[in-house]
Amino acid sequence: MKIALIAHDKKKNEIIALAKKYVDVLKGHELYATGTTGTLIMGETGLPIHRMKSGPLGGDQQIGAMLANGELDLIIFLRDPLTAQPHEPDVSALLRLCDVQSIPLATNASSATVMLDAMKSGIYFK
Ligand code: PGA
Repeated sequence: MKIALIAHDKKKNEIIALAKKYVDVLKGHELYATGTTGTLIMGETGLPIHRMKSGPLGGDQQIGAMLANGELDLIIFLRDPLTAQPHEPDVSALLRLCDVQSIPLATNASSATVMLDAMKSGIYFK
């Protein structure tokens, strides 16, 4: 599958912890990420990741363009619901496109864990 990984700044630690815990699951897939998230996960896990621009500089829109083109199969986007984001319109657009395309989307670590466990056990695989 083609999987996108994104995390707002206060959620970076959570997405790194998830990537470490599920490195064996993730390594079987093609990974994409916004700039900073991708750099951090690569540094911590060694997973190869296609990196877009940083989210506030257009990375969310790049991921959104891939979604619109049907090029992504699953999104893990750990949002920070307590901090205003300068690129909120880009975030909303990306989440909306997941629903337009009916692409599985996890916006918090608990949901992401359910998805990754489903992938690990073979219940969910595309
Ligand atoms: P970042 O972008 O990975 O470059 O920090 C994430 C975001 O804020 O959308």
